[in-house]
Amino acid sequence: MGPGGVAILCGAGLATRSNDTEFRFRQDSDFHYLTGFDHPNAVAVFRTDGGPTFTLFVEPRDPAMETWNGYRPGTEGAVAEYGADEAHGREELHSSLPELLKRSDRLFHVIGRNTELDARIIENLELMRRSSRAGAIPPEEIVDPRRALHEMRLFKTPEELAILRRGAAITHEAHHEAAKLAHGGNHEFEVEAVLDYTFRRRGSSGPAYGSIVGGGANATVLHYVQNNQPLKNDELLLIDAGCELEGYASDVTRTYPIGGTFSPAQRAVYEIVLEAQLASIEACKFGATLPEVHNASVRVLTRGMIDLGLLDIGLEEAIEKENYRRYYMHGTSHWIGLDVHDAGTYTEDGQPRQLAEGMLFSVEPGLYITADDENAKPELRGIGVRIEDDVVITADGYENLTESIPKEPGAVEAWVREGQSEE
Ligand code: MG
Ligand code: ZN
Repeated sequence: MGPGGVAILCGAGLATRSNDTEFRFRQDSDFHYLTGFDHPNAVAVFRTDGGPTFTLFVEPRDPAMETWNGYRPGTEGAVAEYGADEAHGREELHSSLPELLKRSDRLFHVIGRNTELDARIIENLELMRRSSRAGAIPPEEIVDPRRALHEMRLFKTPEELAILRRGAAITHEAHHEAAKLAHGGNHEFEVEAVLDYTFRRRGSSGPAYGSIVGGGANATVLHYVQNNQPLKNDELLLIDAGCELEGYASDVTRTYPIGGTFSPAQRAVYEIVLEAQLASIEACKFGATLPEVHNASVRVLTRGMIDLGLLDIGLEEAIEKENYRRYYMHGTSHWIGLDVHDAGTYTEDGQPRQLAEGMLFSVEPGLYITADDENAKPELRGIGVRIEDDVVITADGYENLTESIPKEPGAVEAWVREGQSEE
């Protein structure tokens, strides 16, 4: 922030689900990152202008409300449990603004999130301008804090990585339980339910994003979340699901043969995607870029599409003209962290940014052949395969946080068959 700064950051409120009921609370990722205070309607103030460094404005203790909605830390808890220098009731924020703004040169605030607070701040800045003869000088700049904050969030600390590894272990167990249900007659929603159950029973708050559980041609729908169809033996089941642990996401995709055995055509597609994913993971190193990671997959996938007869064109030309996009239409990576598609820029000075220690991202190539694709041999139609792991750059290479979740075809088949023997 530099000296002379004041930052005012708003936490999340409750979102209405229907009528007078609300979704379960989920704190804003930036607010969680800075405060760990995971209760609704809080505001954090950070100061480098000589005022208290960290102030929280929170919903005060209220025995009647707490009887209905549960514990609130209140102002006492904000200081004792969250390390705030000072804490005040949320209702005191507006009247505190003149004092908060009077010494600062730079105000860090996200405009447009909380229009009522925005209006109060602007009103106070105007009042200060009008009383300039009394010595009031409003801050010269209003800075969006997210650029600096998201740059911080991009680089995971050892403490964050420890949480992410624990989340990966829970996601591993959930995929294992899910794979065992990949048998004809079960339904996509049963698989989703066992994912949710395993996430919760192991201490995570639940899925980090809407789980994708797609059997057969549903695997070719990239953001399929209906998850309501029966599974059919000899089709594939694509599961893209990861838990959220202490706010941090894991994001893992595996593709399982329903019934426990890949057909030759499914296995051919699967092995191409796996080879692509391994090639991309090999490209993960200090100083490389995400487009390089992507291009490693594109090359393997495009060669595979030619081998499968999906593309009738030379490899270099297919890459050059992006013909592969018909069967591989998404990127290979996104940042991962408190948000499954995490904060942080992908370019720096107009160039893809260089990977550096602590950057965590997905590696998730796929190959998708829709059921009505007359260009594809009949046995290839309706096959969708994606394999996704979470990779962090280290000082001497990379660490694949989700590496222990099997993806070799034989190991994947074995997981599914474990479920069979339990039937
Ligand atoms: Mg995913
Ligand atoms: Zn992903």
